Amino acid sequence: MIETQPPPNQPDIKSTTEESHSLIDTSRMSAGQRAALELTEAARETARESTFVSSLFMGRFDLAGLRPFPMQTAADREQGDAFLQKLETVLRTKVDPDEIDRTGEIPASVIEELAKLGAFGIKISPQYGGLGLSQTNYCRVAMLLGSWCGNLTALLSAHQSIGVPQPLILFGTEEQKRKYLPRVARGEISAFALTEENAGSDPATMLTHAEPTPDGKFFVLNGKKLWCTNGTRAGVIVVMAKTPPKISAGKRRDQITAFIVETDWPGVQVTHRCRFMGLKALYNGVMKFNDVRVPAENILLAEGKGLRVALTTLNTGRLTLPAACVGLAKRCLDITRPWAAERVQWGAPIGKHAAIADKLARMAANTFAMESMTLLAASMVDRDKHADVRLEAAMCKMWATEQAWTIVNDAVQIHGGRGYETAASLKARGEAPVPLERFLRDSRINTIFEGSSEIMRLFIAREALDPHLKVSAAALNSKLPTAQRLRAAAKAALFYAKWYPKLWLPALAPLKSSSVHTSRTTHHLNYAARTSRKLARALFHAMVRHGPKLERQQLLLGRFADIGSELFAIAATCLRAEALTQSGRSSADSPEPLDLADYFCQTSRLRIEEKFRELTRNSDRAGYRLAQSLLTDF
Ligand SMILES: Cc1cc2nc3c(=O)[nH]c(=O)nc-3n(C[C@H](O)[C@H](O)[C@H](O)COP(=O)(O)OP(=O)(O)OC[C@H]3O[C@@H](n4cnc5c(N)ncnc54)[C@H](O)[C@@H]3O)c2cc1C
Repeated sequence: MIETQPPPNQPDIKSTTEESHSLIDTSRMSAGQRAALELTEAARETARESTFVSSLFMGRFDLAGLRPFPMQTAADREQGDAFLQKLETVLRTKVDPDEIDRTGEIPASVIEELAKLGAFGIKISPQYGGLGLSQTNYCRVAMLLGSWCGNLTALLSAHQSIGVPQPLILFGTEEQKRKYLPRVARGEISAFALTEENAGSDPATMLTHAEPTPDGKFFVLNGKKLWCTNGTRAGVIVVMAKTPPKISAGKRRDQITAFIVETDWPGVQVTHRCRFMGLKALYNGVMKFNDVRVPAENILLAEGKGLRVALTTLNTGRLTLPAACVGLAKRCLDITRPWAAERVQWGAPIGKHAAIADKLARMAANTFAMESMTLLAASMVDRDKHADVRLEAAMCKMWATEQAWTIVNDAVQIHGGRGYETAASLKARGEAPVPLERFLRDSRINTIFEGSSEIMRLFIAREALDPHLKVSAAALNSKLPTAQRLRAAAKAALFYAKWYPKLWLPALAPLKSSSVHTSRTTHHLNYAARTSRKLARALFHAMVRHGPKLERQQLLLGRFADIGSELFAIAATCLRAEALTQSGRSSADSPEPLDLADYFCQTSRLRIEEKFRELTRNSDRAGYRLAQSLLTDF
């Protein structure tokens, strides 16, 4: 195995091998908070190596391997194009998304067509009956689906991004893969069941449990899962359940285990099909498990490793939703451009009025940015299937779902009353049946499921703080013996004495533009490099100021997460614009990539500066006090 040196400015993670969950001071937390934190901390993958994004928070802006932007290879693109063409034909000729929305059902013939194409096994290796396409091509498929029908996107995404295929590809035994992958690749629908009535964002409160039989050959599963997408149609589901606790270091540790469960086994029941504001044809249900005997060989990874399975699955699984958001945003732009050019009010096309022009420009630039971020993260997975892109994927998920919501909302606003009217009603009175009303309903869920925006900000902040926790949290942890804390403090002081002064120095070698194409992007990239050092300083100052209590400063942490995400967006956008321009791949009917990138960076820089200002000037405490007064007497 190759031993990697920690990069300069990064703490030597191997020399601080204490598990980071033991470094967080949980002594002042409630029992519930402590249990939740310990469980998720234990399930975290520890960082294998620093990535471009994790380094940003430590003041390093290292574009090695990213400039030039890793564009899809011609061979991989061709492979994807062949599938996308077939899928597009099926969507255009066989799928009526407004009818699916109206009836709340996906016709069986559509599901069959998709299965015939191989759309249920896009990333599954041909060895197990799948198409074996790359992550980038899978994201391109999600983009196409997202532009067309939210219900089909959710069906295929819940099936293969979080359902059985992805965790099985990552963690399945050869026997499990041979048994289940060909089935799900052929079109047997799968699902993922984690959420319960009292276990939403916080899985520690889960009640579903599985007890081993005396001979250890089976686990007997009991419990109820809520909002299981595809659950009402699935043949096979990944179910998360508590298994008997283990005693580790004298403490009782809750265990969560992932099981592959077949829905025709005795005791599995769908008790309710849930219906929502949008995604009317989601096959989402309440699933009940009553003394279901699950063979022990159906455990994924190992007993007690269920949360790790879930978190690692989402490491790349989380890229599907932002990709679908890219498709949705592009479609909104396609619908809105001609409308803004042709709709005349007050003597001019509405796109000539500055208030509408501003929305249109942001729609275009932010769509380009979210596509660049998603493709960059996908390229990292294609380069290394086990790449640690959890930060990149979380940023893509948080940023793209929030931007897509704004984009759909703006598209509705630009269409005025027509944006609020259903496609069927528009069609009935002879107007273009633009489905913006459906898009708005369907996309509202995106900032809630697969990790809500609030949880994503905490997740990003946790990962951003990880190198600091490894260096200094032991020194601040009041639960540890004094001698251990003193040793840790000396080590931390040594690290920070070397690291901190460098954050104030200007870059020794600022990026240079190598051609006319890069001259417009280079100053934005140099801004991002400077700002990453400023971000690292601000993060460090916040740690010194708040100590272990920083963990509770959610709004402050959220701003760090937002600044980091904007810096990632600036980098991805500039690098992709350079590469597209250099390769002459800009499209004739779109603005020039360099114009999009330049405008995006200008707006992103303004958002970043505002977030920095808010680190010191904000109304957080007053708002918190006011909110608490609203919570009394219930
Ligand atoms: C249409 C749909 C499909 C779904 N599909 C699936 C599926 O296939 N499988 C599955 O297992 N689940 C699924 N879910 C569940 C989904 O993932 C959860 O809704 C989500 O995890 C949030 O949980 P919750 O709704 O209980 O909200 P809660 O956890 O109760 O949160 C409520 C609000 O509080 C915020 N919040 C919670 N904790 C914190 C905190 N510590 N700090 C700050 N803010 C916080 C949340 O962000 C949210 O805004 C689905 C849900 C829906 C609606």
